[in-house]
Amino acid sequence: MIALHKSKLLEAAASLLYPSVCTVCGGSIRAGVYLCNQCEAKAVRILPPFCQKCSEPFEGSITSAFTCANCAHRTIHFDAAVAAYRGRGIVREIIHEFKYGRQMHLRHLVARWLRAALNDDRLRDLHFDVIVPVPLHPARQRERGFNQASLLAELLSAQTSSPARPFLERIRYTTTQTALDRSERMENLHNAFRLRKNADVRGLRVLLIDDVLTTGSTLSECARVLKRAGARAVHAATAARA
Ligand SMILES: [Zn+2]
Ligand SMILES: [Zn+2]
Repeated sequence: MIALHKSKLLEAAASLLYPSVCTVCGGSIRAGVYLCNQCEAKAVRILPPFCQKCSEPFEGSITSAFTCANCAHRTIHFDAAVAAYRGRGIVREIIHEFKYGRQMHLRHLVARWLRAALNDDRLRDLHFDVIVPVPLHPARQRERGFNQASLLAELLSAQTSSPARPFLERIRYTTTQTALDRSERMENLHNAFRLRKNADVRGLRVLLIDDVLTTGSTLSECARVLKRAGARAVHAATAARA
């Protein structure tokens, strides 16, 4: 009886926080979720085979662990970057709405996708001393009103025992990376980040957080700064991979 009563209360509480229809199609949904089953099914998980280092999916049948050509030909500073979903279709739309449409409530849905990345074999058994969001340049953050990675890091922190700390800052306002190829991205990002004053990461196992992984250049550059400052390990998790 008590349990039933409690679940009713939770349901009532959830209905205050969640919309009563599917965010995408307006169809009916269960309490406590944002998407109906049909829309949720359109979010595509990244499944093996994929690059052990950067999670780039590989179309084909490889059963052994492998690293993609892009990771083999450059220095990657993170230990592994795990993306949970393909960043296309519904996942792309939701993340776009969250970031650029100021639909901040969608952070809960994106954070749930991000949490799926933590279930990956490469991260599941690890303990992280600190969760660090990839920073935005202050000018861009002002323009957007928030840093999506910080919101996700805070939600993740609330559900794990690891504190979220904004240990990095972005000191170069880089042009959008979209039109750049891999080596241009690396060049564009060089010295774009630094450790915040008074941040001490010596000996820490860090989990870097961002919404989307594209080539991994941003995460790698952040990991480089953290490791140079003494971080013992730097793994990364994102909700999607572009
Ligand atoms: Zn729907
Ligand atoms: Zn790779």
